[in-house]
Amino acid sequence: MIQPVIAIHGGAGAMSRAAMSPEKEQEYLSALTRILAAGQAVLAAGGSALDAVTEAVRLLEDCPLFNAGHGAVFTSAGTHELDASIMDGATLRSGAIANVDCLRNPVLAARKVMEESKHVFFVGEGAEAFAREHGLEVVDPSYFSTEARREQLLRVQRETPDAAVLDHDGQALVARGQPAPADPLDADKKLGTVGAVAVDAQGNVAAATSTGGITNKQVGRVGDAPMIGAGCYASNRTCAVSTTGTGEMFIRMVAAYDVAAQMEYCGTPLAEAARRVVEDKLPTIGGKGGLIAVDAQGNVALPFNTEGMYRGYARVGEPPVASIYR
Ligand code: ASP
Repeated sequence: MIQPVIAIHGGAGAMSRAAMSPEKEQEYLSALTRILAAGQAVLAAGGSALDAVTEAVRLLEDCPLFNAGHGAVFTSAGTHELDASIMDGATLRSGAIANVDCLRNPVLAARKVMEESKHVFFVGEGAEAFAREHGLEVVDPSYFSTEARREQLLRVQRETPDAAVLDHDGQALVARGQPAPADPLDADKKLGTVGAVAVDAQGNVAAATSTGGITNKQVGRVGDAPMIGAGCYASNRTCAVSTTGTGEMFIRMVAAYDVAAQMEYCGTPLAEAARRVVEDKLPTIGGKGGLIAVDAQGNVALPFNTEGMYRGYARVGEPPVASIYR
């Protein structure tokens, strides 16, 4: 009998070098712990891995601390474009949506695509129309906006107008006499996305990923988060994976599937397969970030090649474990 377990992430990135406030750090850890406990409760009640990851990602989307749903980052045009995906390891069914700006919980839309359509991936207006038809909650795009994210966009546009987010660092801001972000991970460098992976008592695994993308991204740009195989993958034969990081490189490395493929074809253990992708392969093309993974036996791996990653796991019957730094 497998001890069910859920793991979540809230994005990876560089540590904020200044004004790191213990209160803010605690806020992140508390949010992670609360959401882990909710996912764990689904599993403890005999719920499926699929239901546990759906619930955890829905809560992460609703939490403004993380870059997905409410609190999503802005595009260069000051708009939001949200992406999400989900995969059921028992059946290999999957669903994904990209480029939506009025669905309160993109992960629920991805799940509807998986369960109620014969397709896997919907984008833009078609995705929104599909979700509306299936009764999902629609919100005004301003629902996703937070002051913190707007300031972040303006800061990035002012400092590095051509960059989409990643090379901005808190230290540089301080050097220029500007206030540094007080989040534990540098909000401007944070490769935000949220995700969850789980295995249930039946040995079924599932994964879900959701994101606002990267700050100042070009309109229409889509990263790895909604791409099955890149940002999300699950198969009972191997494992479930959700990624966070520089999406373009994760797409080129087919990162999530690579972990499963190593396990399936070479018998590589989960931890080693995940480590290779994050530490050996992604850096060869400048890929930064991390991933969370569980295998069908209940092993957990949470590797990242950045300074930190908001992450945690919770086994049924044990207290949740949440962390940020190495
Ligand atoms: N991977 C996401 C993307 O490229 C962003 C992130 O995880 O920070 O859209």
